[in-house]
Amino acid sequence: MSYTKGMLKEGALRGKTILVTGGGTGLGKSMGLYFLKLGADLVITSRKLDILQETAKEMEKATGGKVLALACDVREIEQVEKMWADAISHFGKVDVVLNNAAGNFISPTERLSTNAFNTVLDIVLKGTSNVTLTAGKSWIKSKHPGVFLNIVTTYAWTGSGYVVPSAAAKAGVLAMTRSLAVEWAKYKIRSNAIAPGPFPTEGAWSRLLPGDLVKKFDPAKKVPVGRVGEHQELANLAAYLVSDFSAYVNGEVITIDGGEWLMGAGEFNNLDMIPQEMWDMMEASRGKKQ
Ligand code: NAP
Repeated sequence: MSYTKGMLKEGALRGKTILVTGGGTGLGKSMGLYFLKLGADLVITSRKLDILQETAKEMEKATGGKVLALACDVREIEQVEKMWADAISHFGKVDVVLNNAAGNFISPTERLSTNAFNTVLDIVLKGTSNVTLTAGKSWIKSKHPGVFLNIVTTYAWTGSGYVVPSAAAKAGVLAMTRSLAVEWAKYKIRSNAIAPGPFPTEGAWSRLLPGDLVKKFDPAKKVPVGRVGEHQELANLAAYLVSDFSAYVNGEVITIDGGEWLMGAGEFNNLDMIPQEMWDMMEASRGKKQ
């Protein structure tokens, strides 16, 4: 079975311009590359212009598509507004915004400085609201339909120790997604979210599983389907959610985690540890009593 095949048909995103924050690396890069393969024009943005330009060149070579690399710190509204204006003046329009940029690291919460806590809130929550407000106001003013797709996490609703600023910020992004799905639908603006489980990226793995933590806490072991995600699997879902095929999907968060968060949530799920022989014994003793 291949998890690395593209799902949508050729040209499914032709005519669309898609802006991906954090699009130079990791999951943003993989989703952006698939959008390009499906015929979209792409804007990738983050702080590091050199990385963005390198990625843009690589993507254009691989697909023959058009990629605009724009430096922008999503925490700074002036930079976001300039980035948006540059994207519009280059491609004439932007149809889709994928809010994917994020910052995160693990720490006991009491060890965090206010500054460290605020930095994560600023990138994830304020960064997403800066980009969302800029794009939304522009779409509403020009009567242009639009699509937001926001990358959250499953602990946006369960919460999680040791990543508390990220959990608080992603919960805020999810609330914003659902709120605007209703409020801005009248402007033909859809808002959805994806909550990915573990998908290996250099960024996430180095910050969340540094050193030999990755061996001690093998993420695949926490996933009922027994593996981590392939980037193409996420890209397939993202491409569907930004495409016109999902025009009736609005205000939804779709989890793609192989069942990871539910495995932690179900009260009796750890009975997986009970060997078959013990189940046989329990069944036999129940049989005797009846
Ligand atoms: P990543 O490669 O580190 O991606 C994060 C991106 O955000 C980088 O490209 C970074 O680029 C950009 N960024 C950080 N601060 C920024 C700022 N102030 N302004 C603009 N851009 C900024 O990690 P990833 O794993 O692909 O994560 C992508 C998304 O998936 C994130 O939203 C993350 O929370 C989510 N996610 C990932 C996983 C996973 O298993 N990988 C699981 C659940 C959710 P610069 O450094 O150039 O700014």
